[in-house]
Amino acid sequence: MAFKPANNIQDLQYFGEFGGVNPSISDSSTYTFLSAKTMFDTFEGNADGCYLYSRHSTPSNLHLGQALAAMEGTETANVTASGMGAITAVLMQLCGAGDHIVSSRTIYGGTYAFLKNFTPRFNIETSFVDITKLETVEAAITAKTTVLYCESVSNPLLEVADIKALSALAKKHNLKLVVDNTFSPLSISPIQLGADIVIHSLTKFINGSSDTVGGVVCGTQQFIDDLRSVNDGACMLLGSTMDSLRAASILKNLRTLHIRMQQHSVNAKYLAEKFEKDGLKTVYPGLESHPSHELFKMMMNEKYGFGGMLTVDVGSLDNANALMELMQKQNLGYLAVSLGFYKTLFSAPGSSTSSEIPEDEQREMGLSDGLIRFSIGLDADIERTYSMMHACMKELKIVE
Ligand code: PLP
Repeated sequence: MAFKPANNIQDLQYFGEFGGVNPSISDSSTYTFLSAKTMFDTFEGNADGCYLYSRHSTPSNLHLGQALAAMEGTETANVTASGMGAITAVLMQLCGAGDHIVSSRTIYGGTYAFLKNFTPRFNIETSFVDITKLETVEAAITAKTTVLYCESVSNPLLEVADIKALSALAKKHNLKLVVDNTFSPLSISPIQLGADIVIHSLTKFINGSSDTVGGVVCGTQQFIDDLRSVNDGACMLLGSTMDSLRAASILKNLRTLHIRMQQHSVNAKYLAEKFEKDGLKTVYPGLESHPSHELFKMMMNEKYGFGGMLTVDVGSLDNANALMELMQKQNLGYLAVSLGFYKTLFSAPGSSTSSEIPEDEQREMGLSDGLIRFSIGLDADIERTYSMMHACMKELKIVE
């Protein structure tokens, strides 16, 4: 039977303390115990249903985690203060000194910087590979490799990972396959395709209102318990805990994610097709010209489309900057990093979100100066948006 992530979210029922239709927010950093013995048991991790201290967990965080676990089809989940708070905790939990990671080379710049510059301090080395070439991925695996890391749809190049095939490789070599699904919530369900752990930056589509950062790790009860362990859990000890008030507000936004993703996808597909017809080098997984179009189609939960992200190469950084400034002036969106907002957001990743990646490596992976990354908004009249964007491009002589 087809996996229905939005049904799984909708089917959860929570009530507030006084019968409210939203769960009550737990506005406390610490919790009382009726007996000292229960406090001891809670520290030891054997007192289900008891709360200890809000860096460990809170009722509000557990509600949001439960909804996100339902969305991804995992036993449970742990929410974090940011996407990086989820990524760094997972990698530090899974790897120790001497371990090796095989990672896609096109990933979010912050994750790349963490793996390239930070984890080597702990003697954890990473090989960056073209994740679309399975032979290259397998060739990079060594006896020390413990983790295979990728994004389902990569930031910013929109490369698509073959999660089923990567999962087979991970199983063969006894690795954990960790997938960052930030760019394709609902559209792709990595666990259903064999991933072990799924991460999201909630900052983006899932929260959708660009008012907070947040993250989540979805996985088995055992792994999430490990992350939360008071003795050696990376979430508990590194402390990137989400605040309860934020967890409550993200949960409310999550309930409209299915409608928003459909609109982001419809709008992005419309613009991608138009830009491509205009002769612009356009990358969007929903275009037949995308090298992994068929793969995306095979993996996707069809209803939610190919997502809201596309890139266009306008030839040079000067062109990109001029176009972004003009589009912002015409109120077609904002020159801003991040994604998943109701307004279109655009940035030139080479000089912003991926600037952590050295220029020569950017060239090698096809990240050109003139590349603009668009997170397409929820525009009600995408035809008008297109004609205004086209007029901007014409004025700057980017299109005829
Ligand atoms: N993963 C991806 C794919 C991202 O694009 C980002 C941020 O841009 C992150 C993770 C990091 O998330 P956060 O900014 O919430 O820490």
